[in-house]
Amino acid sequence: MKILALNCGSSSAKYQLYDWDTKKVLCKGVVEKVVVDQGINAFIKQDSPSYVKNHPCPSHKEALQLIFDTLIDPQAGVIKNIKEINAIGHRVVHGGMKFARSVMITQEILDKIKENIPLAPLHNPANIEGIMAAKELLPKLPHIAVFDTAFHQTMPPHAFIYAVPYEWFEKYGLRRYGFHGTSHLYVSKRAAVLLGKPYKECNVITLHIGNGVSIAAVKNGVSIDTSMGFTPLEGAVMGTRSGDVDPAIVPFICKMENKSPEQVENILNKAGGLKGITTKYTDRRDIEKAALLGDDKAKLSIEIEAYRLKKYIGSYTAALGRVDAVVFTAGVGENSSIIREKACEDLEFIGIHLDKEVNRGTRGKEAMISTPDSRVKVFVIPTNEELVFIEDVVAILENRYDVHTNFTYSFQSSDYKP
Ligand code: ADP
Repeated sequence: MKILALNCGSSSAKYQLYDWDTKKVLCKGVVEKVVVDQGINAFIKQDSPSYVKNHPCPSHKEALQLIFDTLIDPQAGVIKNIKEINAIGHRVVHGGMKFARSVMITQEILDKIKENIPLAPLHNPANIEGIMAAKELLPKLPHIAVFDTAFHQTMPPHAFIYAVPYEWFEKYGLRRYGFHGTSHLYVSKRAAVLLGKPYKECNVITLHIGNGVSIAAVKNGVSIDTSMGFTPLEGAVMGTRSGDVDPAIVPFICKMENKSPEQVENILNKAGGLKGITTKYTDRRDIEKAALLGDDKAKLSIEIEAYRLKKYIGSYTAALGRVDAVVFTAGVGENSSIIREKACEDLEFIGIHLDKEVNRGTRGKEAMISTPDSRVKVFVIPTNEELVFIEDVVAILENRYDVHTNFTYSFQSSDYKP
């Protein structure tokens, strides 16, 4: 069985073709500059087999056609006929309160996803466009939606209700949702495998630190809290997003700089975080280099980022009561030993003992970076969100979504029902 994982963003379409029978990724790539400038500069870039081709993509439909053509291309292709694909898993950023798990996309489901557009005006429209284009091009195929928010739908009300007028929740669905769900699910399940314990008995704090950053508290296999909220702006310090700020800052800056709330929100999303502090850097490699060369703002930004992460580890330890493991993942979590070391500094009192040497030698690979006697194990686990897509698609196709089975990665579908 071959499954295509698709992630259509506002100007890109990422893809990965997976062979379920051999448990191998057949190829992965991305079409970039879709829609931008009528898509005239769009191109596909596939990693392996490596392939680059320019092709205009004024909409996602052309981008998907380009992907399908590449998949069967005599040189770059990995299959002979597009009919070899058995299903497509589509990433959908916001499932709102309507979706607590992955679903087969029917017209009714598509309408419900559209109803969530006000919750994610920047993301859901591109996801929907991708689904509609793929359904038009391959109408007979099962199309399945996998949501970023679904994993966190198990959060209890005391974690997701804001202390604001309650009617805002009732009228507008204004509450905390959380994102990066497929990543938190994957790494927490992998952590259970590494701990040698059943997933439903594991308490894990997962730190997804990429350009976007979110932390989750996973108790007995379900998310009970996470740092991102109504939007991905809440929580930790990110590449360009501020994370938590005093909400009174927004009207203050509106007044002082004669800006609209939307303009300030845009600044907090795109010119806040590490970019805001350093005035120029978002890439942590640049920040680490600049800090070594004595750039004070770069040094400060590392301290601020790590301090916020450390506070989350502390507060989620309190939320969980018992912690079996702390997991670092995504670009920074997998690669930056400095951020990991600083985020875990002086946390021995809660059972976290980092092996600094092992930590420094760990980059982009799965490893335990705590000392052998550390009560709380600390892991680096490269994330694999696509695998969650694939597993959920297969589970839905085989009509056994509710069954917990041990796959290659001792992986199970996100079928928890609160
Ligand atoms: P996203 O998927 O959110 O775009 P990624 O998970 O790819 O983000 O992470 C991107 C971040 O990872 C960038 O800030 C990048 O600098 C950082 N990163 C990648 N490799 C390293 C490294 N070797 N050291 C430090 N940071 C790294």
